Amino acid sequence: MRQVAILGSTGSIGVNTLEVIRAHPNRFNVAALTAGKQVDRLAEQCVEFKPAIAVVTDAADAARLSALLLEQKILTQVLYGPQALVTAVTESGCDTVMAAIVGAAGLVPTLAAAHSGKRVLLANKEALVMSGNLFMQAMKIGGGELIPIDSEHNAIYQCLPKDFTNTPHPSQGVEELWLTASGGPFRDSSLEQLRDVTPNQACAHPNWVMGRKISVDSATMMNKGLEVIEAFWLFGLPLEKIRVLIHPQSVVHSMVRYRDGSVIAQLGQPDMRTPIAYGLAWPERIAAGVAPLNLTQLATLSFTEPDLARFPCLSLAFAAAKTGGTAPAILNAANEIAVAAFLEERIPFLQIPAIVEKTLSAISVTHASSLELILEVDAQARAIARDLIDEMRQ
Ligand code: NDP
Repeated sequence: MRQVAILGSTGSIGVNTLEVIRAHPNRFNVAALTAGKQVDRLAEQCVEFKPAIAVVTDAADAARLSALLLEQKILTQVLYGPQALVTAVTESGCDTVMAAIVGAAGLVPTLAAAHSGKRVLLANKEALVMSGNLFMQAMKIGGGELIPIDSEHNAIYQCLPKDFTNTPHPSQGVEELWLTASGGPFRDSSLEQLRDVTPNQACAHPNWVMGRKISVDSATMMNKGLEVIEAFWLFGLPLEKIRVLIHPQSVVHSMVRYRDGSVIAQLGQPDMRTPIAYGLAWPERIAAGVAPLNLTQLATLSFTEPDLARFPCLSLAFAAAKTGGTAPAILNAANEIAVAAFLEERIPFLQIPAIVEKTLSAISVTHASSLELILEVDAQARAIARDLIDEMRQ
């Protein structure tokens, strides 16, 4: 029986993870569940899955959750605050952690999971973007398994040789990683049209149902930029060997090109339960509840180069990855603030890359040598991005 802690159980990835777990009660037990603000949803999940520990963000929500669980005679221990997220990883008896908190808030508990030798199912790409080197070192020290859940990285993981690590050996012949991107809801929109798009339009992804932050990241293509950085750390290939291809159908989830001319791809429905089931059951394969892919019903599979002029976030991410050090953490923090401001209708869509670019040029990049330093830079970048937004609105 695998003991699973889900960080961010009330979100899109969290709910999909529980769906897979629900279908396999003899394989998985839920050890811990954590949420941000959705107390009622978390209470329902606790009643059904009876975790040892449940975590929310603040004391008032914890009191409400405790009362709801008491009514139902559920014995789950209720905790709150950032440190409690770490406790959920280290004290719940879990051996597997689904890291699915959105944004930088997931960094510390995800690092704790890496250090403590758990199987880490990594959805929270922002954690790896911020702390790539530290995170990969923590995984090495902890000795646990790291399985990417982001569909593209999960696809690449499936297409790589079995003994592949993030220090690839030339004899394995891996030449390039091709990350596919749907292009998001504005793939065919002109720059003029992008000026006035609303948060709801940006969140209406043509192929995937996801949380609002990652949906906006897909619309700006920052998501693909973050994924390039994620792939760089996960698979250890030079940046020049990581390419992005627009593939509107979202059927080929990514590909690996080998030296001998072979290209190995992973195909499937655009449904996150596939990579989630893969990570939970690895190295076995289990049913994910996903409809089989019917290739005869697909009219075409097309691939084109991304348009960097309309989607400058992708170039900004490539540049930050090339600079290295704290640059990706600055990029990520500024992007989180800018996306939140866009979702609150405080800035227009096209200001998102402008805020990120200006924040990147306002802070000197240093070596990302410790967690403390990364968190400090993250806070500094957020403060600058907020000031830029305030200035812009005056
Ligand atoms: P959602 O916004 O749907 O869910 C985010 C989860 O994090 C929720 O449980 C939320 O709690 C919790 N949360 C938010 N802020 C905090 C905080 N400050 N402290 C503690 N918990 C918090 O996001 P997604 O599920 O879409 O994405 C999760 C991660 O997975 C992201 O990093 C995303 O990039 C990545 N990912 C997602 C994919 C998808 O298909 N959705 C695909 C690939 C990667 P609450 O809702 O209760 O406030």
